Amino acid sequence: MKQVLVLGAGQLARMMALAGAPLNINVIAYDVITADVVHPLTQQRQSLSLIEAIAAVDVITAEFEHIPHAILTLCAASGKFKPHPDAIKAGGDRRIEKTLLNNAKVANAPHHIINTRADLDTAIAAIGLPMVLKSALGGYDGKGQWRLKTNDQIESVWTEMAHCIAASDNQAIVAEKFISFDREVSLIGVRNANGDIKTYALSENVHTDGVLSLSTAIVGDITLQQQAQQMFAAIAEQLNYIGVLALEFFEVNGQLLVNEIAPRVHNSGHWTQQGAETCQFENHLRAVCDLPLGGTELIRPSAMINILGQDSLPLAVLALESCHVHWYGKEQRAGRKMGHINVCAATPEQLQYQLMLLGQILPQQYFPTLPR
Ligand code: ATP
Ligand code: MG
Repeated sequence: MKQVLVLGAGQLARMMALAGAPLNINVIAYDVITADVVHPLTQQRQSLSLIEAIAAVDVITAEFEHIPHAILTLCAASGKFKPHPDAIKAGGDRRIEKTLLNNAKVANAPHHIINTRADLDTAIAAIGLPMVLKSALGGYDGKGQWRLKTNDQIESVWTEMAHCIAASDNQAIVAEKFISFDREVSLIGVRNANGDIKTYALSENVHTDGVLSLSTAIVGDITLQQQAQQMFAAIAEQLNYIGVLALEFFEVNGQLLVNEIAPRVHNSGHWTQQGAETCQFENHLRAVCDLPLGGTELIRPSAMINILGQDSLPLAVLALESCHVHWYGKEQRAGRKMGHINVCAATPEQLQYQLMLLGQILPQQYFPTLPR
């Protein structure tokens, strides 16, 4: 039996626990907000402090990147933390992330770092409008972002950004050129301590109000897949990465630009639970526990729909063929990620048909990206 401590006690730790059980990997989770060690399925508090948990487990990893550096340092001092804390820091600070992407020589949107009002003018002169502005620290699901389209918006956007910069230590804004993309895709892959890399099929992602709504595995685009895999290898090697790593891309005329990285399992890889030989959660555990990696082949066309803000579904969903519901056991809150639905089929056409059937069952208001 291997013991793994996950920093973060949300749905990603929960799904790691579920995927680890058949391999005799026991997962406990550390809730960074409450500072409790908890059971990742029941959220029950364990009678262990963080220090005791660190001593008790074989491996420590993370389910999110916004972890206080003091906790990362404490965990890393045990020699058990994977991936390297620098990878988590790169995922949690857009300044470090941009430096990483440029060092790895992967295409990404031109950027400029803003600390002062004068920096904003320099950024506008260098990048031009429209521009996307993102807080360096703490952003997720499109939060902590501004769009600057015209000169008359500069002062009001600056007021909000100045407030954001002042509100927390070491905060800054990363200005990025607005990319007029054809679509957004992501690549989930896994690398082990030997440097072996396996990647899943690219995923096409549709967001609603900054939150991922629908992910569909891309079948048969070999050129795009190879392009993404090369960028994945460059970044994973730069970080000497161990575990699952996700890359989000903008696709423009068949060329990929890296938008951001996530040093962890990722929402756009949830379809791997039903659509891949080995799911991303199991492969992350295999990598950090130094076990052989599992196959990442796509076994059938697959998609994932996020359940946002809803805590129940019509039973007809479960009656649909090759439809799998994954609840996270969370209390209902408007817009909150409560669970997801994985849908699979024998062909991409049949998958679209299955999604259309789902669209007939589920309300448009909460599931706006389903075909109808
Ligand atoms: P996540 O939930 O993935 O962590 P996030 O809040 O960290 O998201 P990003 O992924 O950087 O932020 O941005 C959210 C969304 O905003 C992107 O998925 C994309 O649709 C849009 N976006 C971000 N940067 C740009 C850009 N430079 N040009 C155009 N659109 C952008
Ligand atoms: Mg993103």
